Amino acid sequence: MRTPFIAGNWKMNKTVSEAVALVDELKAALSGVSGVDIAVCPAYVALTSVKPGLAGSQIKLGAQNAYYEPKGAFTGEVAISMLTGIVDYIIIGHSERRQIFGETDALVNKKVLAVIAAGLQPIMCIGETLAENEAGQTEAVLERQTRDGLVNVSTADIAKVTVAYEPIWAIGTGRAATAEDAQNRCAFVRAQLRLKYGDLADQVRIQYGGSVTAANAQELLGKPDIDGALVGGASLKVGDFSAIVKAAAR
Ligand code: PEP
Repeated sequence: MRTPFIAGNWKMNKTVSEAVALVDELKAALSGVSGVDIAVCPAYVALTSVKPGLAGSQIKLGAQNAYYEPKGAFTGEVAISMLTGIVDYIIIGHSERRQIFGETDALVNKKVLAVIAAGLQPIMCIGETLAENEAGQTEAVLERQTRDGLVNVSTADIAKVTVAYEPIWAIGTGRAATAEDAQNRCAFVRAQLRLKYGDLADQVRIQYGGSVTAANAQELLGKPDIDGALVGGASLKVGDFSAIVKAAAR
């Protein structure tokens, strides 16, 4: 069975000292919780400061992005090798990266492959825009993003990948997908994985993301193909994030 996985994407929020304080509070609120994998993804500058506070805790660290080249003249970028030993997970292809910073499926694929090669675990985000949703293109978008993002990811490595299905219209809007729709989309993604990877598709965790809250987590996370959540806004609030984690614990 797949262990549920809740990851908090803090985005461009929290100073270093605020991040350290939030992690301390989360650690206390989540102590003793089991049956769920947990990660928080602060900004790069806070990673090494929050890391010592997480020693001995079940909360792992993730980064929100990384560049695939090992080093060199890439001003402003952070190499995956620089994150090795600090984080376990790296979010790749978040819709804000795709929409604001122009990341393509081909770039997402290079990053996914580089994260795996470094021995870390990618959380690969996919999801349709509102216009694509309303035009009935959701499945075509998910099929393309899943296929093109996972080019050359081997059967030996596919279980290291978490796919986060995040409909863009649901991110930060307070308008989550219904649990039924989210389940259907996640099941569709798993069916795409099954075409390429066979029964290994059952080992891949598929998260739902988009306005997950303490109030809707139970219903979303109760669905068979939703293996956890990628949480934005609610991950900045100790009570809300803890409640979501506890709703996922099996
Ligand atoms: C996200 O940024 O990945 C996200 C799901 O945000 P929110 O939970 O705020 O919708």
